[in-house]
Amino acid sequence: MKKPNIDWVVHIVRNGVPCDDCGKIEDSFIKYACNAHTHGMAKYSHQDFQLVIAYSNQEISRILNTFGLWVQGGRRFKAGEYVNGIFEDCPVRLDEFEESDRKVLRVIIPDKHNTFPDDDKCEYPYSIQKCPEQMLYKKERAEA
Ligand SMILES: [Zn+2]
Repeated sequence: MKKPNIDWVVHIVRNGVPCDDCGKIEDSFIKYACNAHTHGMAKYSHQDFQLVIAYSNQEISRILNTFGLWVQGGRRFKAGEYVNGIFEDCPVRLDEFEESDRKVLRVIIPDKHNTFPDDDKCEYPYSIQKCPEQMLYKKERAEA
């Protein structure tokens, strides 16, 4: 079997770590939030992916690269779609959000009861996934 050729990048912008491509240097995400996303799906005429739950970098990369490999292999995804194969026990859903002036497909992960964030019963921190990007940051601290 041919070794997969990962020709996109995964940026994991999380507290304390700037994104060298987007120039974002924020390090003030609310707890459990991050802005992880791919760059490079455009070469497959596909939207990039995003994930905003601050899992380990390894798990974030696994999830985003799995989508990348699926797209590279010819699969196409659209907003609103439920996707099996990321987790054994539940699907994830793709919702469209803005990320730095572009539209991306955000991988939405349900909580342990398989409740998605548009349901009020969805538990924190999974509930934060319905927030637009700017709401994933703490409010700016007041000037001293
Ligand atoms: Zn980036």
